Amino acid sequence: MFESLSDRLGGVFDRLRGRGALNEADVRAAMREVRIALLEADVALPVARDFIDKVTEKAVGQQVLKSVTPGQQVVKIVNDALVDMLGADESELNVDVTPPAVVMMVGLQGSGKTTTTAKIAKRLSEKNRKKVMMASLDVNRPAAQEQLAVLGTQTGVATLPIVAGQQPVDIARRAMQAAKLQGYDVLLLDTAGRLHVDQALMDEMKAVAEVSTPAEILLVVDALTGQDAVNVAQSFAGQVDLTGVVLTRMDGDARGGAALSMRAVTGKPIKFAGVGEGMDKLEGFHPDRVAGRILGMGDVVSLVERAAETVQAEEAEAMARKMAKGQFDLNDLRTQIAQMQRMGGLGALASMLPGMKKMAGAVKAAQDDKALTRLDAMISSMTPKERAKPELLNAKRKIRVANGSGTTVQDVNRLLKMHQEMATMMKKLRKMGGLGKLGALFG
Ligand code: GDP
Repeated sequence: MFESLSDRLGGVFDRLRGRGALNEADVRAAMREVRIALLEADVALPVARDFIDKVTEKAVGQQVLKSVTPGQQVVKIVNDALVDMLGADESELNVDVTPPAVVMMVGLQGSGKTTTTAKIAKRLSEKNRKKVMMASLDVNRPAAQEQLAVLGTQTGVATLPIVAGQQPVDIARRAMQAAKLQGYDVLLLDTAGRLHVDQALMDEMKAVAEVSTPAEILLVVDALTGQDAVNVAQSFAGQVDLTGVVLTRMDGDARGGAALSMRAVTGKPIKFAGVGEGMDKLEGFHPDRVAGRILGMGDVVSLVERAAETVQAEEAEAMARKMAKGQFDLNDLRTQIAQMQRMGGLGALASMLPGMKKMAGAVKAAQDDKALTRLDAMISSMTPKERAKPELLNAKRKIRVANGSGTTVQDVNRLLKMHQEMATMMKKLRKMGGLGKLGALFG
């Protein structure tokens, strides 16, 4: 799967990889090619456009890391954007509820619904060690119920005995009853398909959902139908609360458009991919692995990740050295606050460190983004000398800084007090020999 897209992107990156430095024109040219590759892979137009915008914005403003080429960095950015587009990893089913956990399977005829029902049943019973029962509610297609029974025998999963002439909602009720009485953990309901989305199908589906209150409603769609699969998913999502999508025939899908657009267009995660007719041909859908498979550049991605970590570690070390010398000016404060914000807020960090409880209160104000922006504005309104030597800030200068940053003198005073407390605390920590640890935290 994804072969053609993978080939196309490989070509784009090969051309970028040779470059020592990338300029905006290089990135934009590469992104034009990526865009064409996505559209050829049958990715929905708005999704492709959004993807390109995000990647371009990130790649153009990127700080160049030592030890990797800009081209490699672009590969990493594209990788992350792909993972983002595919959504969070949700390949597990929510079946740990009061038994029986009902998994309702819905979809059009021929999408691979019955086959997928049996594959999931097998997976849940073997991998998740659940006691599983399947029931076919398909009274339209001749021999649909028998087909599921055969698959049940083949996979060693129990199926609800067939009662001729019974209607779907009644079968669902009977299945619930049987599963409860016989202590099954999971009950899979294979509902009837139709040739295309119609109201009778939707009504039946809703009625079944009402009597069985499913923990999961999975839509099965055929990946080979590309954007049609996405459209079908949208129609179903408008009628029932789908919890996820299973894409079948991924084994024959070289383009991957349905897989790539599904999450962005429908908001529903792909949970599994069918990759063949055999009962074990079902894979969990893991966005990071899929991105890796598309780009085929896992080595580059981890290389860039390591390089980024190195830079952060170097920055942290430089900071720790500076602090050890008792130097901690307002420029450093600004860097620190920005870093700590990324780590879950200064207050959170402060309360974890010994002797910083008091400071936690003092810096609470700096925790939200607005406060951070204000802080940044104040420091920016100071002269380089004032930043290096905050004690230069007399009343007159404070008024200038307040005016320049759209804040008040009280705000400036609060900032200075916070800086003071941090500087003192750092001196104390230095005496305690805790700076190494602190440095590590700042990384
Ligand atoms: P339903 O009408 O939706 O219940 O479809 P079925 O489960 O009967 O499947 C229709 C056909 O698709 C069968 O021949 C299956 O073996 C085949 N099929 C289902 N899933 C896959 C898959 O992931 N890959 C391939 N190659 N074939 C599949």
